[in-house]
Amino acid sequence: MSLSHGRSYLAIPGPSVLPDRVLNAMHVPSPNIYEGALVEMLPGLVADLKAVARTNGNLAIYIGNGHAAWEAALANVLARGDKVLVLVNGIFGLGWATIAERLGAVVEIIDFGRAEAPDPDRLAERLRQDTGGEIRAVLAVHVDTSTSIRADIAGLRAAMDATGHGALFMVDAIASLGCDRMEMDAWGVDVLVAASQKGLMCPPGLGLVFFGAKAAAARARATCATAYWDWVPRAAPEHFYQYFGGTAPVHGLLGLREALDMIAEEGGISAVWARHEKLARAVWAACSAWGAGGELRMIVADPAARSHAVTALALPAPEATRLREWCTAKAGVTLGIGLGLAPPDDPAWHGYFRIGHMGHVNAHMVLGVLGTIEAGMLALGIVHGAGGLAAAARIIAEA
Ligand SMILES: *Cc1c(COP(=O)(O)O)cnc(C)c1O
Repeated sequence: MSLSHGRSYLAIPGPSVLPDRVLNAMHVPSPNIYEGALVEMLPGLVADLKAVARTNGNLAIYIGNGHAAWEAALANVLARGDKVLVLVNGIFGLGWATIAERLGAVVEIIDFGRAEAPDPDRLAERLRQDTGGEIRAVLAVHVDTSTSIRADIAGLRAAMDATGHGALFMVDAIASLGCDRMEMDAWGVDVLVAASQKGLMCPPGLGLVFFGAKAAAARARATCATAYWDWVPRAAPEHFYQYFGGTAPVHGLLGLREALDMIAEEGGISAVWARHEKLARAVWAACSAWGAGGELRMIVADPAARSHAVTALALPAPEATRLREWCTAKAGVTLGIGLGLAPPDDPAWHGYFRIGHMGHVNAHMVLGVLGTIEAGMLALGIVHGAGGLAAAARIIAEA
């Protein structure tokens, strides 16, 4: 018997749940792009996005997904042949490295594995060896969505500062912006990359590149910056069309305006971070209880290195796939597939899955996902420790 009829829930780590308010805000005829409300809305929208990223720097917006923002960010600071150092602990770090390579950069990777956050000491050690200052940029992923590892961005910056190395610090916050605490200016991030479809509760289609003064200065030697990807007119437009290098993504902007209003109504970005932290703790409490004496395991053992936006999990293959399929078919909850922890053609691939808890999520949604997982494990005979739901409920009750 299927109990899936009712409102379904896509609990994957992006695209995330679209609030009805965001959907409704977009359900309007096309507005004029030459004058009127849309044109007047942009300066406020840009200011509110900067507040979410905690920066007084610049913002260029691209019609594109996270990959577009990755490329845009690099194109505006690199010359062909420049060396970049990429800190990797999941497939998204590798993906950004590939974009850099295809742009003509010389890419060096430090791989920190798939269970632990990047070690600031190893970064410092590598930078100290670079006495000629060849490394132009250090690339880090704040939350690698494939492993759910959260990097200590402030700690990595401190390690860079301790060496006196002059490289730019570029951070992918595509999964984390609007979920995990991010203090772009206070943490010394030179370039921050984000996108609309995760913590910002919107459809995919808007790529965000925030950049500070040092990165803006690097633009002068960036031979990779072609006309369309150039961030200068987008960040400081003289005419409205320059914000987007052409027609504005009008409905995406209307949705984003509504999402930013929702963040403000909740009490601002720090209230949103606090909600994500609490809900993540509920997820971890359930997973810890299930894992004690059971087969479920969180990929990231250290709570300080776990994202508040997504949790990656392992079960003996093929139980993760069986569990995902059960949750969708029987309960209307879709969990995320495992990414990058085993090759897709390897039977081990069926031993990983992820819970997305980013953006428009609240206590009953998270408890619903957890209750569904527990029911699925019971139905499928997956051995798990007792008390997972009760442990999650206790975290929620303490809120
Ligand atoms: C989703 C994601 C990306 C890629 O974004 P797309 O919109 O799919 O191009 C990159 N980095 C991280 C950390 C992500 O979570």
